[in-house]
Amino acid sequence: MDDLAELVLTDARVLTPDGIVDGAVRIAGDRISAVVAGPGPAAAQAESLAGALVVPGFVDIHVHGGGGHDMSASADDMAAAVRFHRGHGTTTSLVSFVTAPVDALCEQLGWAADLADAGEIAGAHLEGPFLSHVRCGAQNPDHLRDPDLDAFARMVDAARGHLRVITIAPELPGALELIDAAVAAGVVAAVGHTDASYEQARAAFDRGATLATHLFNGMRPIHHREPGPVLASLDAGVPCETINDGIHLHPAVLREVLARGADRLVLITDAIDATGVGDGEYDLGGQRVWVRDGAARLANGSLAGSSLTMDSAFARAIRDGVTVQQAAAAAAANPARAIGLTDRGAIVPGARADLVVLDDRHAVQRVMRAGSWADARTEAAR
Ligand SMILES: [Zn+2]
Repeated sequence: MDDLAELVLTDARVLTPDGIVDGAVRIAGDRISAVVAGPGPAAAQAESLAGALVVPGFVDIHVHGGGGHDMSASADDMAAAVRFHRGHGTTTSLVSFVTAPVDALCEQLGWAADLADAGEIAGAHLEGPFLSHVRCGAQNPDHLRDPDLDAFARMVDAARGHLRVITIAPELPGALELIDAAVAAGVVAAVGHTDASYEQARAAFDRGATLATHLFNGMRPIHHREPGPVLASLDAGVPCETINDGIHLHPAVLREVLARGADRLVLITDAIDATGVGDGEYDLGGQRVWVRDGAARLANGSLAGSSLTMDSAFARAIRDGVTVQQAAAAAAANPARAIGLTDRGAIVPGARADLVVLDDRHAVQRVMRAGSWADARTEAAR
């Protein structure tokens, strides 16, 4: 048969870029073929969603672990953490590695490349090692180093075309040349874990950096005489990652980023292995982390990633006064665009069939990835 089997999801409230459509989503193979108002066409395969809200699958471009699995620990742990987050609506993951020796990072990038080749993830994000000692947060300071083009080239090779983002502190010597190398290699340069002045950060964006890594966290804060990387990022108009867990940012700050433009806000998890497991003691890049009431901290009190999932970040944004439309853009379309993925992030014909079915309280009921259902409860329980 030449025709792809078509699945029609009926009785859905479908969030499209033009608003909510009460109707049906048609799916052919791994793609969305149409969104139609009303009951939808007769089809051999039809499923009623009983009036549930359907939003685009979440795109998390910054995640370290989950479900008890640290993505830096092994290839199996990486795959398991990706499955855990899939149960929470994440249909596209960019796996993130904290600062480590370059050899170790190359090994981790190799695992990510295998998983990306298998179609399970979109690639990797290097959160280090070219970061500021002053703003390193939970990054292990022993392995931080100044930008090094040879080390970068080794890591690009190890990732076999799947390194998509590298976070850099632009005030370090050689940072601008490293941004040139990243742009030439097709890697998004992100500004983060930085003590840069406003001018230093602007220079990075002028040079080709196109993303801000967890805006406000791990960077020099705004001062009225030295507005630093925060206002430089907002003025440059780049997408800005935010950790919306109720701990890293005040809701008013989230609304402020949004006020600069609905296409700017990017929800990430920055989740660590403890996510979905509970309070206790964990390891992050060789440093001990304590999780209490969902907040992960080092012994010195520094926040060390989060225990957030994308469904919680999305639901919290709506509680914080963000519209469903804006929250969906921040959780899917904006992060997809930030890393150059053009085939997902919105429920439109031709896009990959990545869907999250939500209940009345915006909790995940079901997750579809590339046209196949992934059962939320089963995946999350793993
Ligand atoms: Zn991180």
